[in-house]
Amino acid sequence: MYRTHTCGELRLADAGKEVTLAGWVQRLRDKGSLVWIDLRDRYGITQLLLDENSDPKLVEQARSFGREYVIQAKGTVIERESKNPKVPTGEIELRVKEFTLLNKSKTPPFTIEDVSDGGDDLRMKYRYLDIRRNPVRRNLELRHRMAMLVRNYLSNLNFLEIETPMLIKSTPEGARDFVVPSRMNPGEFYALPQSPQQYKQLLMVAGMDRYFQIVRCFRDEDLRADRQPEFTQIDCEMSFVEQEDVLNTFEGLAKHLFKEMKGLEFDKFPRMTWHDAMKYYGSDKPDIRFGMKFVELNDVVKGKGFGLFDNADLVVGINAEGCSEYTRKQLDALTEFVKRPQVGAGGMVYIKYNTDGTFKSSVDKFYTADDLKAIADKFGAKPGDLMLILCGEAMKTRVQLNALRLEMGNQLGLRNPDEYAPLWVIDFPLLEWDEETQRYYAMHHPFTAPKPEDEALLDDPTKWGDIRANAYDIVMNGVEVGGGSIRIHDRTLQNKMFHTLGFTDEKAQEQFGFLMGAFEYGAPPHAGLAFGFDRLCSLFGGADSIRDFIAFPKNNSGRDVMSGSPAPIAQEQLDELQIALNLK
Ligand code: ASP
Repeated sequence: MYRTHTCGELRLADAGKEVTLAGWVQRLRDKGSLVWIDLRDRYGITQLLLDENSDPKLVEQARSFGREYVIQAKGTVIERESKNPKVPTGEIELRVKEFTLLNKSKTPPFTIEDVSDGGDDLRMKYRYLDIRRNPVRRNLELRHRMAMLVRNYLSNLNFLEIETPMLIKSTPEGARDFVVPSRMNPGEFYALPQSPQQYKQLLMVAGMDRYFQIVRCFRDEDLRADRQPEFTQIDCEMSFVEQEDVLNTFEGLAKHLFKEMKGLEFDKFPRMTWHDAMKYYGSDKPDIRFGMKFVELNDVVKGKGFGLFDNADLVVGINAEGCSEYTRKQLDALTEFVKRPQVGAGGMVYIKYNTDGTFKSSVDKFYTADDLKAIADKFGAKPGDLMLILCGEAMKTRVQLNALRLEMGNQLGLRNPDEYAPLWVIDFPLLEWDEETQRYYAMHHPFTAPKPEDEALLDDPTKWGDIRANAYDIVMNGVEVGGGSIRIHDRTLQNKMFHTLGFTDEKAQEQFGFLMGAFEYGAPPHAGLAFGFDRLCSLFGGADSIRDFIAFPKNNSGRDVMSGSPAPIAQEQLDELQIALNLK
């Protein structure tokens, strides 16, 4: 038997027991007559002791152990003289009678400590060592606990976890597919699923009623920070449900996770239409941990001779309470912030509502104190507040102001990672215009149903941009953690949708024929949603990066620096696939 206990298990009540432990040497302290070893495994650290009564050969052997050596120690549990209340095993130590060296280790390239001296790249290259560190290990434990909670919760609600294929047919809508060549069918390719969307809908046609899967998905997108080419979804679908049923079911799941993981209870999650989210927060994933809602100012700022405002489609601002003392330098920095290419604003106007009731603004030339008071009233501002204003084309300006609002939230410490503000964003637009290709795309995916009251607008191409969908996102702290929709289950409506998206009948048949065919055999009304599981884990773990919650993530260029993938394949492999490279 390699061990009788783990390294995190022994307590004072075990004093006197003869035990065997196995683990990694975390640290060795040699004080001459006394030698201590911290022995570590996944469960904790136990201190091993050799003292003047120990066999000198044993002490010699202990001294030969390097960091991360794998050893087995047999001995007696004793009460420690100087206890360490910070570790659960801190009241005891193991007086060692026998060591077995199970394996040596090279000196690790970084310290296996909570705060390591290893940089990101190095830790990724040696991820198996990184995972030995408490913070990473804890993140994987959190991920496991979340997965178990999800499985049990959904299973109790009659959801079945059903696996769907990984090698599927490539479809043009959505992101770019990763493709896999088929050796047995030269010139033909599978795609890796971007999501099991069509399969889960087929499972509804198949009468499975409630499906879920914690499933890997693949998207070959240009990598933005914190995007992984492969990621995990909690993918769900239900039959005979309306939007209300879906929202309630998954709000229930989210609440269950909050309760079990965080001890937090929530009332009903607020709901906001996409339209309001954009109007008041400039984002379809508003962070509502703090206020600073947008205030539109066209009616109070125009016509005073300030050309920039007069000519703008929209003048809109936020009120930063209690910030009237911001210095010139701070205001300049904010202007620089909004002018960065990532934000893209032309500039920023500020109005300080001084504590003495006077105003100071960057547009004093154009606005009298009364004018500024009228603007302040529009904001509901008080003396001591600072108003920040942007202008330009409406949607662009809103998006820019969103960046400024979040920046102010950061500066004012209003985005506390221990606070959670979930909400539903509902009534997304069905279609989204793409300038480049000059056509509409499905904002969610082509199977999302329009709101019944907007369905007639599909007949009028000038109204396509106004059609609302029965589509919803679940948002927490400014992060989209999930989204889904009511699906089209009616063949005629689906055809109409394909036409709207510019598909000919033949093209639609070629791409989606199998799903459409299935819909002719009694498709029930159905709907679903998918949570981004990695993101959900990082949110519950209080970290920004999803990478920290994936055992073996890819780096920002989509590379696994540990295994060295992607990598060229041998000529014989290419030959077998009948693929000739044509590298540019
Ligand atoms: N398949 C969708 C997605 O990946 C989610 C859904 O509609 O259920 O975003």
